[in-house]
Amino acid sequence: MTIQVGERAICPHCKTPNRFESATNHNGQILSFWNVTNGLDDHNKILRLCRCTNCGEIIIFFGEIMVHPIGSTRPPCPKEVPTDISKDYNEACVIEHLSPKAAAALARRCLQNMLHGQGIIEDNLSKEIESAMKSLPSHLNEAIDSIRNVGNFGAHPIKSTNTGLILEVENGEAEWNLDIIEQLFDFYYVQPAKTKLKKDSLNIKLKEAGKSDMK
Ligand SMILES: [Zn+2]
Repeated sequence: MTIQVGERAICPHCKTPNRFESATNHNGQILSFWNVTNGLDDHNKILRLCRCTNCGEIIIFFGEIMVHPIGSTRPPCPKEVPTDISKDYNEACVIEHLSPKAAAALARRCLQNMLHGQGIIEDNLSKEIESAMKSLPSHLNEAIDSIRNVGNFGAHPIKSTNTGLILEVENGEAEWNLDIIEQLFDFYYVQPAKTKLKKDSLNIKLKEAGKSDMK
C-alpha cells in the first residue's frame, strides 16, 4: 500500500491515522515526485515524497516500495495478540514489500501458530484452515479459505506442510495473508478481550448490588 498526498493512511513513523501533505524544501518549494529513468530500457519509476501532517516526518516511495522509513504502513499489531504470534506478524509487515516470499512464509507460520493457540491442530495448515472454518463467522470463513486459494496450496502443498519455508509466492499473496491475519486477530483476541472487560465491569456492579455473577 502506498501513501498519497491528500489521502488518509497510517503514518509509518508515528503510527497515527492521518492525512499526508506534499513535502517542501526550506524555501517552501514543493518536492513531490520525479520520473526516474533507469538508463537501460528507459523504464520509468516514480520517486515520490510526502509528509505526515501529524509528526512532520518524510516518507519516500520508489515505485510501489516504501524506501524511507523501512517499515510498514499497516496499523500496529493489537496489544491483545500473544507475543510469539505478534512477533512473526510484525516482522512480516516490515518486509512485506522488500521480500514478499519471506513475508508470506512468516504470515503462514503466524496463521498456523494462531490456529494452534485456538486448539486447532491437524497434519497441515490446509486441514487446519478447514477445521477453523467450522467455528468462524461466514465472512471470515471465506477469508481464511481464500488463503489456500490465493496461495495455490493445491499446486504448492509444501506451503501447507512446512509453513515457514521460503517459497515462490503468487502475486499479492503476502499482502492478502496479512490482511486476513489482521481480521483474525480481531476475532480471536481483540473482540473476546472487549467482551471480557464488559463482563468484568458488569460483574462488579452485580456484586455491589448483592447479586450473583454473570457466567
Ligand atoms: Zn507521522
